Amino acid sequence: MFQILFCEQPGIVQVIYFLKVFLNLVRFVTPIILIITISLDFYKNMLTGANEKESIIKKSSNKIMACIIVFLVPTMINLLLSILNAASIDTSDYTNDFATCYKEANPTLITQLKEKQALALSNKEEEERKKNLLNYANVQAKFKEQEEKGKENNVSGSYNGNTTNMNKQNGGVYVQNGVFYFPSGASGKGCKTPNGSFNNPYGYHNEFWNRLQALKQAAIQAGYNIDYSTQGCRTYSQQVATYEKYRSTPGRAAKPGNSRHGWGIASDVSAFYKNATQKCGNNRSYSNCPGMKWAHENAPKYGLNFPLLNAKYKEDWHIEPLNKKTY
Ligand SMILES: [Zn+2]
Repeated sequence: MFQILFCEQPGIVQVIYFLKVFLNLVRFVTPIILIITISLDFYKNMLTGANEKESIIKKSSNKIMACIIVFLVPTMINLLLSILNAASIDTSDYTNDFATCYKEANPTLITQLKEKQALALSNKEEEERKKNLLNYANVQAKFKEQEEKGKENNVSGSYNGNTTNMNKQNGGVYVQNGVFYFPSGASGKGCKTPNGSFNNPYGYHNEFWNRLQALKQAAIQAGYNIDYSTQGCRTYSQQVATYEKYRSTPGRAAKPGNSRHGWGIASDVSAFYKNATQKCGNNRSYSNCPGMKWAHENAPKYGLNFPLLNAKYKEDWHIEPLNKKTY
């Protein structure tokens, strides 16, 4: 009638198995208790000499009835479930009906199910690992390709897309020999999200974005992970809003016009990870987070750093390109 897939869960089968053992124990112990109590009744009657045979027989028959019910209930439940699942064709499959599941629940099945589950889990992990390796290789290849291209043009990391607003002539950010050059003063002039000069999902400067991705993939390889803010480039009005929002917390947001977020060359890590899947707390309470420690140590290998690690108003989540200069 309906498949009972929970019978593939080792934990549930274990509970069913314990229930079965318990019920069998009850069925075994009840008659013994019955015989003992009835015998005691008769014995007491004999000792006191009271002639209460009739009431003892009545009491005993009640007890026998109770015992029969204890015996029958599990059998009846089983029968009822079998009838409910009368449409089941294959009775050897424990997922077909509860009666079969109940019958088949034993330590061997539990072990088999546990092994099956462990295998499925390790297969999934292996798949995930292969996928990560592939991603990592792709990002590394792209990174390399960009670097080669940069060498040819004496510019490290060229932009993938439209560069109209993003060069020195137009007062934008440009990268030369791995150094990010950005105009001093007015901030966020070339910031266009999410398209325009920034052709990555969150509107970061493309070269910066590539480095962030390389760091993320390396983190995954090392058994951690990193998530970045989805706001890659803050426009001037967004900077004003951010500044107003954190006005009461000194050092939490730069004065509008001074933020490198305005150039798409700064990011705030939104999550560091304890391991591949488990995040380290929230609200930026990252103390003792192994993923954060890893990121701080390894960022320079990917042309990145956390410049506010030792600042007066510490921001251990704020990441930027390693080498930058104003022009
Ligand atoms: Zn920041």
